[in-house]
Amino acid sequence: MHDDRTSEEGLARTKQPNQLREMSIRRTTRGTQIQTPHGVWRYDRTGKFLSVSHQGWAVRRGLNHRMVESTASGEKGTMFREYRELTEVDKRAVIEEGRLLCAELTVVPNRLPGSSTQTAAQTAASARSMSAEQGLHPKQVSHADGDVHTDLQRILSWSERDLACDEEAFNAVYKPVSILPPDQYQALVVQISQGCSYNRCTFCDFYQGRPFHILSMAEFEAHLRAIRRFFGERLQDRTGIFLADGNALIVPYERLATMIERIRAELPEVQYGHQMSTFMDTFNLDRKSVDQLTTLRKMGLQTVYVGLESGSARVRRFLNKPGTPDEAIEAINLLKQAGYRVGVIVLLGVGGISFAEEHEQMTIQSLREIPFTQGDIIYLSPFVEPHNRAYFERLISAVGGDTPQQGGADIEVAPVTSEGWAAFSQAELVEIYWRWKKILADVAPQVQTTMYSILQHLY
Ligand code: SF4
Repeated sequence: MHDDRTSEEGLARTKQPNQLREMSIRRTTRGTQIQTPHGVWRYDRTGKFLSVSHQGWAVRRGLNHRMVESTASGEKGTMFREYRELTEVDKRAVIEEGRLLCAELTVVPNRLPGSSTQTAAQTAASARSMSAEQGLHPKQVSHADGDVHTDLQRILSWSERDLACDEEAFNAVYKPVSILPPDQYQALVVQISQGCSYNRCTFCDFYQGRPFHILSMAEFEAHLRAIRRFFGERLQDRTGIFLADGNALIVPYERLATMIERIRAELPEVQYGHQMSTFMDTFNLDRKSVDQLTTLRKMGLQTVYVGLESGSARVRRFLNKPGTPDEAIEAINLLKQAGYRVGVIVLLGVGGISFAEEHEQMTIQSLREIPFTQGDIIYLSPFVEPHNRAYFERLISAVGGDTPQQGGADIEVAPVTSEGWAAFSQAELVEIYWRWKKILADVAPQVQTTMYSILQHLY
């Protein structure tokens, strides 16, 4: 999410004079944006590279220097995106390209009558002199005190090697932030717990190898201090708070309420910091009453993202997901009674061809039974191969005719791929996505239905 409100802008050009007016540099409330005929480059308020995009293609950079490329294909109604994690070599190339562009730019202020054109050298000199006057390095001139010239200088002050150090700095504050809902990438993550208390669903390896842990109050306070140090002035650019990790709603009520209070008191500059959200698995409400849930909502916890995964009891058992679909719907109903906005996540293509028909029919039936209200979201998340073997072993066992451990009997044998299991191709998943989206527009017209590819995740 980018805020394009402009506080100052200028035209920009490279050394080729005929390119003037084809580019612009603008300051947004959160950083700097450079528009060129070949892409839009975005930098945060400290001059760190955020993203570049052009006609359906984009590269985004996370807080830990990970970068993910996305490429859109297809027409309206069949469109899908493919994602790729950039290698170190690719990352260096992207950063270098942005730096070269900035080094070449000449800024021509276009909002200030009588302003004169500056060459790149003058731009740099002006930024240096401003920094020098204040006895500051360009990195230390705050966005609020600077202008487009200092912005360029600040961007240039970050070498690729400097930016790569963000990985270590991030890891000193956070355990891996393995997954977030797509509309929470800009939130401030606070890990009030680490990992997942269950950690045995066969399709999910986000937290594997990590023991579940609820932070003590002392650890939590230290985490808040570390967050403040890491983000610095960028705290004001985060929108909302995400309580992590996999099922933070399991934190006992009193401690959760205290943590919410402390976050609001300690991190007041986070935009919409009173709007908090978290993940929950439907068996993890931990016996919280409607009254307690209502109190937590009034304190700020407003959105809960729920992993329904499937409305079929057999598919859920096959996935080793505790509880029946009815129990899952009951848990979501409880959240709705307490006034929460919900994001319900279902998996597309899970169980492969063997379970396809049952999974689709029963899941859409379950979604029909949820009392969605305006603002809720249904996420359709294409199944992605987990790194562990548990999922495949169960599926191979199912399509091979053996009874899976908890999967029940009478699973129909479906065509088996050369790998030995019945999966959907990428093209089939895209087709399934668009078909479900159309059906759900009738089933739950008040709710937005959207793609949730775990491959796009970046924090
Ligand atoms: S899907 Fe949810 S409950 Fe299951 S292992 Fe993953 S985080 Fe835990």
